[in-house]
Amino acid sequence: MKKQVVFACDIGGSKLLCGFVDEDGDIIDTEKALLPPNITTEIIEAHLRNMYTVLSRRNPKYRSIACGMTIPGLADAENGVWQYACFSGISDYPIASRMRDILHLPVFIENDVNACALAEKSYGGCCDCKDYLWVTVSNGVGGGLILNGNIYRGAFGGAGEIGHIVVEKNGHPCPCGHKGCLEAVAAGPAIARRYKVMTGKSLSAAEIADLARNGDQNALYVMRKTGEYIGRGLGKAASLLNLERYVLGGGVMQSFDLMESDIWRGFEEEAFGEPNSEAKIVTTSLQYEAGLLGAATVAWQSISS
Ligand SMILES: [Zn+2]
Repeated sequence: MKKQVVFACDIGGSKLLCGFVDEDGDIIDTEKALLPPNITTEIIEAHLRNMYTVLSRRNPKYRSIACGMTIPGLADAENGVWQYACFSGISDYPIASRMRDILHLPVFIENDVNACALAEKSYGGCCDCKDYLWVTVSNGVGGGLILNGNIYRGAFGGAGEIGHIVVEKNGHPCPCGHKGCLEAVAAGPAIARRYKVMTGKSLSAAEIADLARNGDQNALYVMRKTGEYIGRGLGKAASLLNLERYVLGGGVMQSFDLMESDIWRGFEEEAFGEPNSEAKIVTTSLQYEAGLLGAATVAWQSISS
């Protein structure tokens, strides 16, 4: 008998990572495709169809019984609609029903950060934790809030958006219209911008982190300031929610070691003290595969509920 897996699709702004994942979270096989700028729904559908065919052919001992997808940007998980992604012209795209017709599988979607948050509970370091916030810091900053073991979406679907908590009064403008949002001062582009202002050099956040590790004082200052901002954002969330744990993922958090003490400093500046003194701030144990495992979690949970 063929072993059951799900077809997990982690849709990013510039790439697709798909794989067959079993119920224990073991990744059986993966396929990756780079996406051009200005992606269209046709390009995404063609890639996903192709990747599913390749994975099915290569893994004849496995049978996919459902598909789970992470959506970058706004997603209506209940109706399977990709509502909006700022990096593309995609809006109100009924991706779940489209892909159901193409793959002949039940298809379930979730916002990418929420999916990562869920995966941390199923396959990562939060299997013993009911109340936590998952925060991605990469090109943007997003949050997925898990309360009592489930995603908390809020009355209008906007809960957990820690990227738009203001952490610096009159700080850098954010596209949302406010100034000094966490995303505007701590995401990858903000790190690059601050380093350029200090040195005149245009480098990526990853390059700046490398320099900081090698003793470049400007780079270290920029990274530590980033940590302080992240900590302030978490601290504000803590005062309101009093969560047990804060899990950090995304490319920028690969430099957690450079920022850890400043994250705690920012946290302590903002968090209501005593009730939050036992809180933990950790990095994701899922690393690069968080999104793929998030997509798998969405599929497995949807078919079992
Ligand atoms: Zn904002």
